[in-house]
Amino acid sequence: MDLYEYQGKELFKRVGIPVSDGRRADTPQEARAAAQELGGAVVVKAQVLTGGRGKAGGVKLAEGVDDVEQKAKDILGLDINGHIVRRLWIERASDIAKEYYLSITFDRGEKKPLFMFTTQGGVEIEQVAEENPDALIRLHADPLEGYQPWIARRLVYGAQVEDPSEQKQIAAIVEKLYRAFVEFDAMLCEINPLIVTPEGEVKALDAKFTVDDSALFRHPDIAEWRDTTAADPLEAFAREKGVTYVKLDGDVGICGNGAGLAMSTVDVVAHVGGKPANFCDLGGGGSAEGVVDALEVITRDPQVKSIFLNIFGGITRCDEVARGILEALERLDMSTYPIVVRLDGTNAQDGRKILADAGKPNIYPEATMLDGAKKAVELAR
Ligand code: GDP
Ligand code: MN
Repeated sequence: MDLYEYQGKELFKRVGIPVSDGRRADTPQEARAAAQELGGAVVVKAQVLTGGRGKAGGVKLAEGVDDVEQKAKDILGLDINGHIVRRLWIERASDIAKEYYLSITFDRGEKKPLFMFTTQGGVEIEQVAEENPDALIRLHADPLEGYQPWIARRLVYGAQVEDPSEQKQIAAIVEKLYRAFVEFDAMLCEINPLIVTPEGEVKALDAKFTVDDSALFRHPDIAEWRDTTAADPLEAFAREKGVTYVKLDGDVGICGNGAGLAMSTVDVVAHVGGKPANFCDLGGGGSAEGVVDALEVITRDPQVKSIFLNIFGGITRCDEVARGILEALERLDMSTYPIVVRLDGTNAQDGRKILADAGKPNIYPEATMLDGAKKAVELAR
């Protein structure tokens, strides 16, 4: 789960990383009130789950309540890389002498957290890695040893930070960022820019924070921060229903049991010249209720013209799936959808018989995955 900047900064604050004082605002009036409370110059920042806000006009300095209100008006509603701005963060403006970069991510290859630090911050890190690779200091931590003071020293000396006060402040931030990374089960913690003010104070001016979805149960307070309005409405509905679903942009609705089979089904449909409308995994259980939920999600996508249910019964019983399909036909208005069904594996005979006995004109049984895909693609035309 990606966090908004202001949420990431809240977590930074909890571990003691210095950030500027700020307020949330969702309307120009709220922005005005926030500026009044904060006093002095502020920066109005679009809160969207994408980077490059500065370049897109989503970060603006403002002074005085009228100016702040106007800048808030300008930024709200902006489209930044396909994300519409609906939230703002108003914070006390900082004077910037230098912009550094600090992050911790997982290096899956090494199976270790990876620290990255450079004094060439502010710009995209990929650009630094490409144009000036020596300026980017990379260092792995041993997850069992955890944070060790030499890590920060290597980063700071490696990047040739010379000022002792800066060195000390950055080292403290590196340690705290690692604590945040572990404590909040992060996949990514990035500070870009990590600034030095003209007075020599080091602080986080931006926050990019990704929490491992699988660990959210340990952080109910963070899980609650999820902005369901920012997600695709269909994917949000699927999550509510407990269906694993990813929207794609074709017209053949796809449902398989197990992520591997569902992905293969997407591939086979594409292979025979079709366009998958989605990825949908029934999961290993494949209860009748699960089938109804999956079909409800799939048919909410107006682009779907045909549906291909590809089931290979292991733990999943094909008779149970067949009952789920009939149940869905009863409960949802699905008469306009041709549904191609391939049942194989555990209780496949029973499942096919249940469907045949029901005699539904829009159900098309197929024996193999390839034939099923061909049929579904043909029916979508
Ligand atoms: P991003 O473009 O989405 O990464 O958003 P950032 O939060 O990193 O802001 C982009 C840029 O805006 C920063 O690199 C700064 O140069 C500038 N900026 C952000 N906050 C302030 C501030 O308080 N004062 C000044 N002078 N510039 C700021
Ligand atoms: Mn940034």
